[in-house]
Amino acid sequence: MTELHTPNSSFAEEIAKIPGGEAINKCIQCGICTASCVISRATDKYHPRKLIQKILLGKREEVLSSIQPWLCMTCRLCEERCQEGVSPAEIFHAVREIAAREGRVPTPFRKAIDTVLADGWMLKDAYSDFIEDERADLGLNPHLSWDKAFVNRVKRRYFSQGADQ
Ligand code: SF4
Ligand code: SF4
Repeated sequence: MTELHTPNSSFAEEIAKIPGGEAINKCIQCGICTASCVISRATDKYHPRKLIQKILLGKREEVLSSIQPWLCMTCRLCEERCQEGVSPAEIFHAVREIAAREGRVPTPFRKAIDTVLADGWMLKDAYSDFIEDERADLGLNPHLSWDKAFVNRVKRRYFSQGADQ
């Protein structure tokens, strides 16, 4: 009887332990995810199927140092269409979580994270009197308060060097 080859690796097992990544070893490399992906349509540099293949083959260093997992916009079209119940969106989320824990966030994304952690959101300067009035009209607190304890929990979990003591 022919034994089927199932690509697997300790990196794939690491991903499979993170919620959402469990099904990675079911991937049959059909490519439907890449054919469905809006980002792949916009650039020939992004291929969800190939990225999953690299994880299955154990190319941990290459995947964690790549910007590719950070390009997924989590639209989940791939997840909807995958016939094997694999979620590339969740798998790349798991990759980003590991990368963040290891301090390997690509510079442009690190800058965005720093801005959010410092200001509470990406567009602090866009928060105008107009928005305050709108919030008040809706019965919301017009003054957004930034939960420092929550920020510190995020920093400790993902960016341990940056947490306030
Ligand atoms: S994740 Fe699903 S759609 Fe993408 S290659 Fe694997 S089996 Fe096919
Ligand atoms: S969730 Fe990510 S990988 Fe899947 S189709 Fe959307 S952008 Fe592409």
